Amino acid sequence: MANNLTFTMIKPDAVEAGNIGAITKMIEEAGFTIRAMKLTRLSKERAGQFYAVHKERPFYNDLCNYMSSGAIVPMILVKENAVEDFRKLIGATNPKEAAEGTIRKLFAKSIEANAIHGSDSDENAVIEGSFFFSETEKF
Ligand code: GDP
Repeated sequence: MANNLTFTMIKPDAVEAGNIGAITKMIEEAGFTIRAMKLTRLSKERAGQFYAVHKERPFYNDLCNYMSSGAIVPMILVKENAVEDFRKLIGATNPKEAAEGTIRKLFAKSIEANAIHGSDSDENAVIEGSFFFSETEKF
């Protein structure tokens, strides 16, 4: 399954703006199959665990506050070359730098409230997926 699975979550700004449907439509039209999905929330502590890799960065506390400020939609997605293709679909971290037609270009509000997450490696896709869904490797 390595290379075929990625993890994403629609972030609080995009859920609040009513863009779950528009974003999942783009994901499916790009050829990804949604294998697991739920509407949930992160406590600040759980957000801190998810983004622990960034704990030395100056924006870490703001990021944890933001990610625990509202509902999120984590998903497991399957497609050939999933991680790389999904990063292309979402675009650059900063929506000002994101390519036209990408999810972040269309829906993100700022470099922090940037609508959607996408795993950056096959290994992290499984780690991050397992954070929300049991038996992620079997998807
Ligand atoms: P990603 O892989 O494109 O999501 O980017 P990173 O892993 O570098 O950062 C994780 C998340 O932290 C981003 O998606 C943003 O929500 C947030 N973030 C990244 N850089 C900044 C920044 O410079 N300022 C703030 N406030 N948030 C940031």
